[in-house]
Order: sequence, then structure tokens, then C-alpha cells
Amino acid sequence: MADMSELAAKMKVLSDAYAAQLPEKFSQLEQVWNKLPRESWDEEEFQKLHRMVHSLTGSGKTFGFSALSDVARNLENDLKLFVQAKIALNEKQRNHIESLISELRQVAISADASSGDMGGRVAVAPRNQSEDSIRRIYIVEDDVSFAENLKNQLSYFDYDVSVFNTLADFKTALQKNDAAVVLMDISFPEDSWGGVHVMQEVQQKRDVPLPVIFLSSHDELDARLEAVRAGGMAYFNKQLNLSSLIDRLDALTSNQPSVSYRVLIVDDSPSLTAYYAAVLEQAGMTTISINDPLAAMKPLLEFEPDLILIDMYMPGCNGMELAKVIRQLDAFVSIPIVFLSAEKDIDKQLAAIDLGGDDFLTKPIQPQHLVASVTSRIRRSLMLRSFMVRDSLTGLLNHTAIKDQLNREVARAKRQGTHCCFAMVDIDFFKTVNDTYGHPAGDRVIKSLSRLLKQRLREIDAVGRYGGEEFAVILADTDSATAAKVLDKIREDFSRLRHMADGTKFSTTFSCGIADVADLSDPTKLGDAADKALYKAKHGGRNQVAIADADPI
Ligand code: GH3
Ligand code: MG
Ligand code: MG
Repeated sequence: MADMSELAAKMKVLSDAYAAQLPEKFSQLEQVWNKLPRESWDEEEFQKLHRMVHSLTGSGKTFGFSALSDVARNLENDLKLFVQAKIALNEKQRNHIESLISELRQVAISADASSGDMGGRVAVAPRNQSEDSIRRIYIVEDDVSFAENLKNQLSYFDYDVSVFNTLADFKTALQKNDAAVVLMDISFPEDSWGGVHVMQEVQQKRDVPLPVIFLSSHDELDARLEAVRAGGMAYFNKQLNLSSLIDRLDALTSNQPSVSYRVLIVDDSPSLTAYYAAVLEQAGMTTISINDPLAAMKPLLEFEPDLILIDMYMPGCNGMELAKVIRQLDAFVSIPIVFLSAEKDIDKQLAAIDLGGDDFLTKPIQPQHLVASVTSRIRRSLMLRSFMVRDSLTGLLNHTAIKDQLNREVARAKRQGTHCCFAMVDIDFFKTVNDTYGHPAGDRVIKSLSRLLKQRLREIDAVGRYGGEEFAVILADTDSATAAKVLDKIREDFSRLRHMADGTKFSTTFSCGIADVADLSDPTKLGDAADKALYKAKHGGRNQVAIADADPI
């Protein structure tokens, strides 16, 4: 991860490069101005001049040349009046513009790198947690066997768990390494409110409170109240329902996107796209920059961005037109589009939003502001999308979505000549679970298996809820032997999980059937083969993984 000084250094390079281009930019601008006919009105050339000045207004400020930007803005405002009036300038007007241009020349020529006020201005909030602490859980609990048992259960969900049996050990550990979440017992031998007191002490020394979940064997209001006062995000009775505890932990630890957001940047100025790219990438995103709007189609289809940043004014095709075209493509009807411009005119901004833009950012854009708007737009759009493709109980892909995904992955594997496995997972004797422990307990079992699958498989794999207690998994680039190994480990761990229902502990198992697309011709046959393999696993005695025969038809 790039740190702050690295970003500042990158910005300095960009700012220097921008300064170096200024004289050339300025002489182009002067050429256009000098070539303008005196007696007649040349719409096209005049607009070109206006666009050049407009671009200096936005980019100048972005790279820290505010004096340049201010003069450019004055000039731009005056030029805009003439663009609207559409008549040739009289002598007085010419002289006025001439004087502003020469003022601009002064600042443009003298704007060498050192005069840029870029240096310390760039400040992107650092991530508040380092990558490796994101899944670190501290359990602080004097009951040794309770703590060890909880640790084991949490470890199945890929949490990195440490247990401390005394408050002193916990405090020492915290000085070395931060945790993502602390699970804290309330009473300790030395102090019946020890857990609360220590957390109060810890929180006082911190700017950002440490997320803590209290565990207690008593459920009175005063205990809950004290817990809240010590920064408790949740309070669980020790007769705890593991599944809701994990839900809470997942929620507390999932504020970092696990896959980096993809942003397509379209702006005719290479120095500005480089600037936006540097800022967004520093915040963990992946970007592709396009300087010619007419070349945006290919990266759009191949890169599949989560959001598009588009400059409003570009030669060849303006931002609004490009947004319209993008919106007409089925796959991009709902992609967030954010316009960038030095345009301050609110009517124009609204028009742009109306035409398919979701937001309008005014140049110069502060790094924090850019990162925040892009992140919140992407989050919201992904959330809306997830309502359509996700199963509500488990958050996994729903039946339709996982089948769509299978079609895509099979096509890709065929194209690239690689393996791709499809696995069907079905919980064993699930009807008995419902009948014995009740439907809600059954639901919790479904949720815990879905979580286990999600956490154990790779980011590129897809996990779906195929129906009731049936799951489907797509493992890209994986042969059936490898897939079987992975799923068999998950099977084993799942069988060790203890579920709770009304104080009774129970466990369940699943069976799994796997087929590899390399052995089959299409998605339907792949599904049938996996289904047959699952049947084989069930009949072989359940709690096992079976691979489809190479040629089952
Ligand atoms: P097998 O080992 O052969 O798979 O036996 P099974 O009992 O798991 O299979 P069966 O298909 O006979 O029963 C599945 C049960 O799953 C029946 C249904 O009521 C239950 N079920 C389906 N969806 C849900 C759900 O969302 N929540 C709960 N709790 N139960 C569900
Ligand atoms: Mg079943
Ligand atoms: Mg079933």
C-alpha cells in the first residue's frame, strides 16, 4: 500500500510535468487567439479558445497553480459572454482580452515547478487499519475452556483469533498489535466489572474507539449499560448463538472492500487523468485512464468498471454525449457516472445529471473529496445491484445469478482452454434438522455454511444458494481433483461446527458433487454431471465429496 509520502512524491512529479507543459499549452492558446479574424465571428475557433482557457482553470488549480487558475477563470468568464453573444469583438474588447491573455502569459511562464503549492496539500486519509489486523480478534476471558472453544469455532470462519485469560495479558498484547474486534468478558476474578473497566481505560487513550463486543453470563440492564459506556458495540449472553456473533463480527470487520473498486477515467488532459488515477489508486482502487473519449468503448467492455469519471468538456465528444451513449448499453444502464468539470453553472450541472450522470464534481477536486464521492457512489450501486442478484438469507448469489455466472465462466474457460469446476453442495438430512431443532435453527445452519463457503473460497470463485439447503460453487481455473480437495476440507470443518438450538448443541454434514467443464461441452451438461456426482455422494453414505465421471453421458 502506497503511503502518504509516496503519494505526495507522485503528486510532485505530476505537478512538475504539468508545469513543464504550460509554456507549450500557452503558446497554442496564443496561436488560436492571434488567428481569430478581426472583422468576422468564427464560432468554432472562438469556442476552441474558450475550451483551452477553461481547461487551464480546472487543471491549474488541481496541480496547485492557483494564481494561474484565477487569471484563467477571469478570462474564461469574459470569453463566455462573447461565446453567447456570437459577434466579433470590437477594439476595446480585443484590448481587454489581450491584456488578460498577457497576464495569463506572465503566470503561465513563471509557473515553474517550485511555484506550485502542491506539495503538502495532498492528504488522503490513511486507512485506519492495516491489512493484517482486519481479521484479528482478541478474546479476553478467564474461563479457559469457554475461550478455547470460542476460538476454535471462530477460526473456522477465517478469523485470526488470540485468547487472553487475564486482563493484564490483553493490555500487553494491545500495545504491540491492534485488533479488529475485542470479545471481552465482563467479570474477572480480581474485579467483577474488570472487562468494562479495562475497556474504558483503553478507549480513553484512543482517537478511534476499538470495537468491542461484551460477553457476559448476566443479562441485567446495568451490565448492558456499563458495556455501552465502555464502547461496546454489542452484548452477547455467554449462552451465545454463534451465528449471530459471527454476523456481528463480519459486519464490524467488513468495512474494507475485499476486491478493489474499478474506475474508468475519461478526461482529455493526460496530466489530470494521471492525477485522478494516483489519488484513487492510493485509496486501493484500480483505474484505467482514457484521454480520447472516442476510445472509451473498448475499456468499458473489457475492464467492466464499477464507476466512470467523465470530464465535461472534451474535444470530439463531450462528457454528456458520452454518458448518453454509455447509458444506452444494456450492461451499463445503472453504472454510476460522475462528471468532472470546472463548470460552476448549476443549471449545466443539473442538465448533466439529468442526462445520466449521478454526480457532478467541480474542479479542482480535493483528493479526499474525490475518494469519498467515488467510494460512496460505488458502494451504493453495488448494494442496489446486490438486492437483485443476492439471496436475502445468506447474501450469496441467487439461483438466477449463479446460473448466469456459470454461463459466463464456462464460455471463458472454453475460450481460454482452461478448467472450471462446478460443485453442488447439499446439506445432509436437513429435514431432520428442521424437524428436531426448528426452522430458525435450520436457517442458522444454512447461514453458517454459506459463510464458511464464502470465506474459504477465493475471490474469483462464485458461491450461490441454488435452492433451500443446496448451494452451487464455481471454481474458475481449477481442475476437479483440486476442487475436491478444497471442498473436502470445507466439508470436514463444517462437520466440526457446533450449532445451538435452545441450549442443545448439534452438528450437521453436507455432501458435494463436482464436475469440470474440461470434460463437458456446455453449462447444462455441467450442471447435470455435478448433480449426478452429488447423488453418488449421497448414496455413498453422505458427508463426502464425489467427482463426476469424465464422460457421464
Ligand atoms: P438429503 O441428505 O438427502 O439431502 O436429505 P434432506 O433432508 O437434506 O433433503 P430434503 O430435500 O428431503 O429436505 C430438505 C429440507 O430443507 C426440506 C425443507 O423444508 C428444508 N428447507 C428448504 N429451504 C429451507 C430454508 O430456507 N430454511 C430451512 N430452515 N429449511 C429449509
Ligand atoms: Mg439435503
Ligand atoms: Mg436437498
